[in-house]
Amino acid sequence: MVKISLQIKVTLENIQELRPAGPEFRWYLKVCCSNCREESEKWVYMSLSETVPSQKGHAVNHFVNKCKLCNRENTLTILEDSVKPFVVNDTDEHLEKFQTIVVFDCRGLEPSDFSPRAGWVAKAVDNGKEFTDVDLSEGEWVDYCDIIKQPVGIYDIEYRFERMKPLNH
Ligand SMILES: [Zn+2]
Repeated sequence: MVKISLQIKVTLENIQELRPAGPEFRWYLKVCCSNCREESEKWVYMSLSETVPSQKGHAVNHFVNKCKLCNRENTLTILEDSVKPFVVNDTDEHLEKFQTIVVFDCRGLEPSDFSPRAGWVAKAVDNGKEFTDVDLSEGEWVDYCDIIKQPVGIYDIEYRFERMKPLNH
């Protein structure tokens, strides 16, 4: 059981906060079998609102995959409390830092690629508009906030996976 966090880094123009819209948000990933290193060619998605039964009887799985090569059943759980917005903090000079937006509890597989796609919410700065259906499929997004009378945008999306160290007892 390995906890792997998804961290993103984005350039935001007049946007204060970027977050997945809700439990229906679909995390599109490619996954890799930890046992035989077989990587899925297809994008798969997992969502907090969709649980999948597993033969092993773990409590909650959001994704179950039988590896085509080694036949193992691998599972993944999205840790609900780990879902966090990417936030721009005015006092933070390190705007270029990666921030964790979700943690996956992985059993037998690891995410190897991430595709941001649709279903994001972006909140403009200075109590501006909340854009509720932001699509990042093209790798960037631009709009105009008629409350703050400024263009808004999201650019240069980067991501990485970080293996979280297990707690020592
Ligand atoms: Zn395998």
